[in-house]
Amino acid sequence: MNFIFLGPPGSGKGTQAKQVCRELNILHLSTGDVLRENVKNGTELGKKAQKFMEAGDLVPDNVIVGMIEDKLKNGELDNGFILDGFPRTVPQAQALKEMFASNHKSIDRAILLDVSDEEVIKRLSGRFYCPTCNAGYNYPAKMPKVEGICDKDGSKLLRRPDDEEDVVKNRLDVYKKQTEPIVEFYRNESILTEVGAERSIEAIFADLLKLTQEFK
Ligand code: AMP
Repeated sequence: MNFIFLGPPGSGKGTQAKQVCRELNILHLSTGDVLRENVKNGTELGKKAQKFMEAGDLVPDNVIVGMIEDKLKNGELDNGFILDGFPRTVPQAQALKEMFASNHKSIDRAILLDVSDEEVIKRLSGRFYCPTCNAGYNYPAKMPKVEGICDKDGSKLLRRPDDEEDVVKNRLDVYKKQTEPIVEFYRNESILTEVGAERSIEAIFADLLKLTQEFK
């Protein structure tokens, strides 16, 4: 079961990918999470990525492709996965296709979570996360029991620096210019499925589970 979740920032792909992976017992690989962890730990990769991330720009393709290649070599992708946030450009999609072809792997479905620009801006301006357990919250759709505090461990919730308004606008712009063309790429490969993502988290999850379970 090998899937790609596509969609603009704030489409819910991270939240949904996490839940679907837990249900199917497959790997959730978010390139954004891996990069944030590297920035936090001050690694070489983190140092290379930080300035691009803070501006809402994409980290160069060779850096990201190298990261995925390492995971492929380590066998981390052998037992099923959802790629969340990768590929993000047509060259990344092409590199993935070539890497997989030479490792006798393939993608079962690329699933696009469809959301309008207005909804993205609304969602990202209400997005918070827990720096301890990484749980995500969204005002008003998914509120913590106590405002500003994580339900699971009581930590103070934070905003991602790239969720500030001007950075969000740039991320949306980058999505349209650099990432949206891969929707066409996967449509041409006949593996694209679109899921309406302006519904409740539970309704979207139910559809995604049905869709992905077909490949068990
Ligand atoms: P995300 O958490 O997926 O929104 O990613 C946060 C940031 O990490 C993005 O705005 C980019 O700067 C960087 N990033 C994550 N995945 C990729 C990728 N596949 N290619 C380039 N940059 C990426």
